Amino acid sequence: MSMPSAAGGEPVTDAGGSVASGPVLVINAGSSSLKYQLVQADSGQSRATGLIERIGLDDGLARHTVEGREHVLERDIPDHAAAFEVLAAQFAEHGPDLQSAAPVAIGHRVVHGGAKFASTVLIDDEVLTTLRRLVPLAPLHNPGNIAGIEVALETFPDLPQVAVFDTAFHQTMPPAAYTYAVPLSWRQTFNIRAYGFHGTSHAYVSRRVADLLERPLEETNTVVLHLGNGASACAVEGGRSVDTSMGLSPLGGLVMGTRPGDLDPGLPAHLSRVAGMTLPEFDHALNKESGLKALAGDSDFRQVMERREAGDEAAGLAFDVVVHRLVRHLGALALVLGRLDAIAFTAGIGENSPTLRAAVLERAGLLGVELDAEANDAAQGETRISTAASLVAAFVVPTNEEWEIALEASRLLT
Ligand code: ADP
Repeated sequence: MSMPSAAGGEPVTDAGGSVASGPVLVINAGSSSLKYQLVQADSGQSRATGLIERIGLDDGLARHTVEGREHVLERDIPDHAAAFEVLAAQFAEHGPDLQSAAPVAIGHRVVHGGAKFASTVLIDDEVLTTLRRLVPLAPLHNPGNIAGIEVALETFPDLPQVAVFDTAFHQTMPPAAYTYAVPLSWRQTFNIRAYGFHGTSHAYVSRRVADLLERPLEETNTVVLHLGNGASACAVEGGRSVDTSMGLSPLGGLVMGTRPGDLDPGLPAHLSRVAGMTLPEFDHALNKESGLKALAGDSDFRQVMERREAGDEAAGLAFDVVVHRLVRHLGALALVLGRLDAIAFTAGIGENSPTLRAAVLERAGLLGVELDAEANDAAQGETRISTAASLVAAFVVPTNEEWEIALEASRLLT
């Protein structure tokens, strides 16, 4: 079934299950920030968005955007409880009035669901306990997500609240794809395996690709390249993830803003021997000081591209490393799929950098994809960027993780 979208003006495939009318309040709570959006689940229409930053630090900042107007509030926001007070105050002052908007649910983005959560769940005490147990799998992300859930449950006790996991979409990966060749005791005792992330984005974009190709989702094989500050590639076979570039943590795979992607597993031991580096130091460097930041001195791809265009050698090398890694993963995932129908670029870099897209697709001719350079340069919103003769289609598809979370929440409740 196709639905009209008030948000992007494009139809979106309903991946099955009916969708409640009425908005969902989507919450993405991190350790020091909280993003929210009031989204109409059936149409994707965004009724308000907000970003609360510097939680727990001085000079908290809250932005609330409704009907194209941004309302900024500056005040200290010591914790997540204060952040939710600000959220409620912003809705009360600038609208829409939450009482009359009557959200049907709150949908929380949760980064890591481990092997426990293969789909969206209604949050209760048991789910919260399990989420707390999963913290070691995503120590940088899950604690913020949990803090958001705990306060939302207190602030909105009458609304059903659901957890939508970044990992859940990848729970369809076969054992051959998710198993690491490490000692059995690690796998059994500590659930060491690949999980994958950005699941809501890969699910949304791969559905859109099937719609754009006018093919049933079940018969469409796509490699989705989600390229933002975090980046991952996913092989989607008939609507199901069968492999992805990220693994146990969001560090693996592609080169990212501050994360390195794939590395030799011998690296921590080597640095410990030659530099006396401790594991916490190593962990910090891999999460915060690697990727584009390490290669070009800036984690922001746009800045790196500006420096590259100005002749900066380090920025040039950073771009080449990013493209090389992308080509390598794209080729591998195409072989995993066996038959490839489409390649889709999404998220901040994927949606906005024709240079990056061209560099990847020009090296992917072996797969049967032929770039339409003009369409690529002019791409705005959902755009086919391969020629009519191309055996494999290539698209730019703006992702919409908030709508996907709202759809998930709404489907679970109906
Ligand atoms: P996040 O993972 O934080 O959601 P985004 O999807 O917003 O990240 O992507 C952020 C990245 O997109 C940044 O590296 C930014 O420089 C890049 N980006 C945004 N706009 C452009 C642009 N016009 N050209 C190139 N890169 C861009």
